[in-house]
Amino acid sequence: MAKTYRKKIIAGNWKMNRTASDAKILATEILAEIKKFDQADIVICPPYTALGVVAEIISGVPNVFLGAQNLHQAANGAFTGEISAAMLRDFYCRYVIVGHSERRQYFHETDDLVNQKIKTAIANSLKPIVCIGETLQEREAGPAKWQAVLGRQVKEGFKGLTDKEFADIIVAYEPVWAIGTGKTATPAQAQEAHAFIRGLIEKHFSAEIARKIRIQYGGSVKADNAAEILHQPDIDGALVGGASLDARSFAAIVLASAEAVPEATRSDS
Ligand code: PEP
Repeated sequence: MAKTYRKKIIAGNWKMNRTASDAKILATEILAEIKKFDQADIVICPPYTALGVVAEIISGVPNVFLGAQNLHQAANGAFTGEISAAMLRDFYCRYVIVGHSERRQYFHETDDLVNQKIKTAIANSLKPIVCIGETLQEREAGPAKWQAVLGRQVKEGFKGLTDKEFADIIVAYEPVWAIGTGKTATPAQAQEAHAFIRGLIEKHFSAEIARKIRIQYGGSVKADNAAEILHQPDIDGALVGGASLDARSFAAIVLASAEAVPEATRSDS
């Protein structure tokens, strides 16, 4: 059977960094560094207050998209301090990160809440980048433990989604022990987890969904380790935190994804 081509997707999660004026500078620098590179989808996720300026800077660049870092599951209402999907669409957001481990850890987001947010995002034409991953303790407890954690996150997080809804989902495997720690999963460890996640999606949903869905790796991805990670067969991109705050580093990660594109599908071949 022919291998399914999945276009790489590289996303930068700026977290709670950069004011609007600084964000304008960073987004401008990123575009200058990546030039006309079009072999991957690129998503920039600045803080809410910078969505407007970044939207203006990337407008008209076909493969660079705006993403948010979170959304509320309700359409509107008395939820002080929260933001709705429609408000994100106002700024031309196309993607939204859901269930990041920092939200699960500090804001007590559960798989059920993640599931509701995914459905709200898709209903509002936002593509959710759904983060899953095990903690250090769960990793060190051995394969049965981390596989059970990923199994629960996939089964519960994606419960009740239709095949059509799955087409909009990006999964980000982010082992919590590798986020912001400088510790990266080895390419073999990451590939093993990605293949396992793809298998879970096949088991709980369908072989076709599993074959098509893009699974990003996240956790201390840097310019010097990106290519090796992105060359793994089940790794379809990266979700980048710290290194996305430096235009050169982020662009180097984006460009590293090109070498992983099969020759026959390159736009210049
Ligand atoms: C993240 O926060 O999603 C992340 C992967 O961060 P870092 O790249 O800094 O580890």
